[in-house]
This record gives sequence, structure tokens and C-alpha cells, in this order.
Amino acid sequence: MQNVLEEALAIGRRYIAQGECASYIPELARADKNSLGVCVITRSMDRYAAGDTKTRFTIQSISKVISLVIALQHCGFDRVFEKMNMEPSGDAFNSLLKLDMASDKPFNPMINAGAITTAGYLVSEVSFDDMLKYARKVCMDDGIVMDQKVYESEMANCARNRAIAYLLQSKGILESDVEKSLDLYIRMCSLSVTAESLAGLGIVLATGGRHPETGVRLVDAEAVRIVKTIMLTCGMYDGSGEFAVRVGIPSKSGVGGGILAVAEKRMGIGIYGPALDAKGNSIAGCRMLEYLSKTLNLHMFAAET
Ligand code: GLU
Repeated sequence: MQNVLEEALAIGRRYIAQGECASYIPELARADKNSLGVCVITRSMDRYAAGDTKTRFTIQSISKVISLVIALQHCGFDRVFEKMNMEPSGDAFNSLLKLDMASDKPFNPMINAGAITTAGYLVSEVSFDDMLKYARKVCMDDGIVMDQKVYESEMANCARNRAIAYLLQSKGILESDVEKSLDLYIRMCSLSVTAESLAGLGIVLATGGRHPETGVRLVDAEAVRIVKTIMLTCGMYDGSGEFAVRVGIPSKSGVGGGILAVAEKRMGIGIYGPALDAKGNSIAGCRMLEYLSKTLNLHMFAAET
């Protein structure tokens, strides 16, 4: 496994030059574009790591997975999907287009409109502190904190998300206080994780929501099924379809450069590579996952060997 990860890293490095760090949140542009790391945690909790797997970076959109789990557990499926669909949008993560023109509901919980709707459900139910504690638990990483600089940088540059939030309010979808919902959404995006923490969350989801060692249930089984399915269809922005064909592992990426990948019953994979492709996915990360999927036979629909 260690050799496979080292090889994946070498393959990924070839693509870094073609990507760019996100800059619409100024603090994210300060990341080292050449950072790259991949961590695998297996169901027996064997941990393999290559490259920059201990570097802290902000979770960004991957927090949508954690927030959705919390919302499903607190509010239940019917309430969560009363005002939100579960269809891929085919548009950019921060698009307003279809929300205004084609649909009254956000397309899914993995795009910003959906995640701000989710934050609206949660703002009166759970405190940010409790969500942070839950994130530490499901990622099996007590070192997760909110990155104050990234939080402030995004708060100072969130006109687009604010526009989405007010549009949601105008349509009667976001019923909670707009600014509080937006604040909770951005706080969750600012959690600092590592490739190892994402692999930790990955193995918890891969094993049905239980801590792989203690067997203690961390995530409700039904919530696990729902988030993995939505990750498969909507987790990689408007690149989700091609990613599903090439990689075939339910995954979620964030503009901080992280990817969480959940290889069913086998392993959690966490990636850090802040150079992004045009769709906002870690450019090297996608290539590494494609390689891992082929080499370790992780595609959901892999041919029998
Ligand atoms: N905080 C970012 C935003 O809302 C998250 C985007 C992402 O990772 O896709 O713009």
C-alpha cells in the first residue's frame, strides 16, 4: 500500500502546474500550490500516508457532508428534503442561475445554495461548538479548530453566498435568520483539517457509520447511506459525472484542496492538494484517486477480478 501511495503522489505531482489555488477567498490563495498528500485508513485502522498529510487546511465544501449528516440526525429526512432536492445541478457550486430560473429549491445539499439551506435548519437546533465537536469525533481528529483567518477572509468576501442566502429567503426556503445561517455555513467551511482527518471521516462512512475500532455508532446508518449516495452524484461539483466514471468512489471536494473519498467497506481516503482544476477540484487529487481506484480496484462498478 505504501508503494501504491508513493506512486499516486508521483503521478499527481505531474498535474500540479496545470492547477491554481482558489483566490476568491483571499486567504486560500496563500496556500502552497505544490503541497500534496494522500492518506488511507483501512477498516482495521491501518494508516498509510504519503506527502503532506499533516498539513492543516480548511475543509470548505467537504463540511457540507458533516452538516448534512447533522441535519439528517436532528431534523430527519422529510424535513431536510422538504425544501431541497437531491439532483446534480451541472452548474458551478456557487451558481444562482438554476435556483432563480429553473427551480424553487436548491438542487442538492452539496452546492452552496443547498448547504446554506441546511445551515438554516441547524442554526436554531445546534450550536457551532457542538458541530465542531461532532466534526472532531467523526474525523477522529481532536486537533480540528476553526481557522479564524480563513473565516474572516471569507466573511469579508461573501457577497455571492450572501446573495444566494437572500434569494433563498425571498423564495421562502431559508426561514431562519439569513446572516446567522450564512455565518454558520462559513464557520463550518473554515474548519481546519488534514488529509488524515478526511481519511478518518472516510473510514467511518465506509464502515456504515461506526468507529472502526470501538464499534461505537458515530453516524446514523440511514444518514450514512444518504450522504454517500449524494456524494457519488453531486460531490465533485459539475465534474461529478466524469469523476464517477473515471474513479467511481463517492467523494466530496472542497476549494481548500481537500478530497474525502469513501471506498465502501474498504478504506477512507483523504487528499490534500490545493492546486485546483477549472471546476474547483484538486487537480492532482483527482488523478491520484483515479490511479488508486484502478490499482486497488476501488471503483464501485469494477469488473470482477
Ligand atoms: N466556503 C466556500 C464557498 O462557499 C466553499 C466552496 C467550496 O469548497 O466549494 O464559497
